[in-house]
Amino acid sequence: MNHKFKPESLMMTHGYKPALSEGAIKCPIFQTSTFVFKSAEEGKAFFEVAYGKREKLPNEELGLIYSRLNNPDLEILENRLSLWDEADDCAIFESGMSAISTVLLEFLSPGDLLAFSTPLYGGTDHFIHHFLPKIGIEIMGFIPGEESGELQKRIEEKGLGGKLKMIYIETPANPTNDLIDIEACASIAKHYSTDDNQVFLTVDNTYMGPMWQHPLKHGADIVVYSATKYIGGHSDIIAGAVLGNAEVMKRVKTLRTFLGNMAGPYTGWLLMRSLETLKVRTDEQQKNAGYVARYLQSHPKIKHVNYLGFIPEDSEQYKIKQKQCLSNGAMISFHVIGGEKEAFKFLNGLKLIKLAVSLGSTESLAEHPKSMTHCDVDPHDQEILGIDDSLVRLSVGVENYQDIIFDIERALGEI
Ligand SMILES: *Cc1c(COP(=O)(O)O)cnc(C)c1O
Repeated sequence: MNHKFKPESLMMTHGYKPALSEGAIKCPIFQTSTFVFKSAEEGKAFFEVAYGKREKLPNEELGLIYSRLNNPDLEILENRLSLWDEADDCAIFESGMSAISTVLLEFLSPGDLLAFSTPLYGGTDHFIHHFLPKIGIEIMGFIPGEESGELQKRIEEKGLGGKLKMIYIETPANPTNDLIDIEACASIAKHYSTDDNQVFLTVDNTYMGPMWQHPLKHGADIVVYSATKYIGGHSDIIAGAVLGNAEVMKRVKTLRTFLGNMAGPYTGWLLMRSLETLKVRTDEQQKNAGYVARYLQSHPKIKHVNYLGFIPEDSEQYKIKQKQCLSNGAMISFHVIGGEKEAFKFLNGLKLIKLAVSLGSTESLAEHPKSMTHCDVDPHDQEILGIDDSLVRLSVGVENYQDIIFDIERALGEI
């Protein structure tokens, strides 16, 4: 019978054969650096495939060689994570930044132009502004909305069309929840692609996670995640992931082999454990976020709430949301009435919700973007983007929503 299982049904078992591990129901931690070959011939065959000296034969699997190249905890995890985005393959890294910098290094060469949305995650922004120009890569930032016309106009005006090699975006933008049209970016990438020069569209999908947005379906070529966030989901590991088609992933995995920035087996094992509850955790988080956002919106000490559920139906942003978002997510930001003093009073008054950066975890987290995660963003850009002293970012967790609201109510009382 032709039945396609949903990813959440496969997170416990997909890709793992108990018989290969003494019948253990769970994949053990393969805490090993190297693997014993059955014969010299087998070792030779494994290396031929791993080093691309010949194509894999039909039904031939890449054999286990050495844990920098492959390890069961990473391979099974990669197969499972690929299901959510329906990607051909996935590569796990020791951090989100490691995944991102590897993609940028693999697909950009001196003389190329990288166009990127702002604001980007601070680490990515730093790498783009301070490292890429050192190796001769030109960079051009754009703000949400410019992808539908303005960006292409600017590329044309500067005569850089022939140099464009990658568009890199984060949507929804952190911390404002502004949406960028993935399809519009894909069509710009396509417009400048030629037979021998593909322009790649990369989407950092960390803010929505693999449950709520699937950029590959909207024309992206590469998806990156900080697996530290929703995928890990328990604030206990740092990891990253890259997903895409077989051709893209072969390049990513090859560079990973030589940079040696893959995650270790223990991280792979913990992430597999996290994936089993990805859907139940995030279902609860998005439901809680809806209650919390509505509460915040009705509060007299709050000026404005940025939440995908509040985008007006007659707006361009709403059309984009309908196209590419499967949920309103669990990230909220809001402006308190006042400035830094009031925002800090609120943050210092929280007890259940923890004052920390990061997001997507089981516990709710709050922070002040202007002085913390986004303190490095150009002041002019901060102003255009609405990252001001009164802004607070909230990542909603799995606690009982009435308790989260109680904590917020109490802390707002401190203002
Ligand atoms: C956290 C984060 C990163 C960086 O990931 P690390 O795992 O901390 O290296 C990249 N992009 C976004 C959107 C993030 O939130």
